[in-house]
Amino acid sequence: MAQAPHAPQEPTEGSKPRRGRVGVRVVGRPDSLEQRLYLPEVLRGLGVTMRHFFANVVGRKYTVTVQYPEEKAPYPERFRGLHRLMHREDGSVRCVACMLCPTACPAHCITIVAEDTGDGKEKRPKIFEIDELRCVVCGLCVEACPCDAIRMDTGRHAPAVVHRGDAILGKVDLLKLGGPSQATQGGKGATWREEQ
Ligand code: SF4
Ligand code: SF4
Repeated sequence: MAQAPHAPQEPTEGSKPRRGRVGVRVVGRPDSLEQRLYLPEVLRGLGVTMRHFFANVVGRKYTVTVQYPEEKAPYPERFRGLHRLMHREDGSVRCVACMLCPTACPAHCITIVAEDTGDGKEKRPKIFEIDELRCVVCGLCVEACPCDAIRMDTGRHAPAVVHRGDAILGKVDLLKLGGPSQATQGGKGATWREEQ
């Protein structure tokens, strides 16, 4: 029968591949019954499985699973947790309601209503709320704040809640988690307005 003009040529055993072409290595079929049943390879594979099984069950050598909540993996130093609002030495909130953090927040989960402090200089938040269920824990609010007023270094997760509204932390909740900060307000010192 005549061969089709573009039919692939059968490689012969020992034939060398020509440069620029894909070579074909001809492998002989298994001869013995043991080889035909692939028993050695099956047993070798089972050996690997059993080695990992006992290493994990007895020695837990390769186990990465943590039995939470009985066990807790150590958090990295820069772990971003629940928010908190920092306060000054006199106990007042450091936030000056500049609105930088809600502007930076990609999840739109920060709500601030500003009010006058009464000293003719600064504002403060009358309402400061963060919806921890909407928060994507990006840390942009902390980066944006010029006053070291908001931090995420509590080392705690947002707690599980039954009602949606319970996930919204208000100013009082955030201040309870907060602490004192002596950071230079605005990065220029407390008397920067007088120096203008
Ligand atoms: S961590 Fe990100 S998403 Fe969460 S409140 Fe801050 S800016 Fe918004
Ligand atoms: S960026 Fe800082 S000072 Fe400005 S509103 Fe947010 S927490 Fe307050």
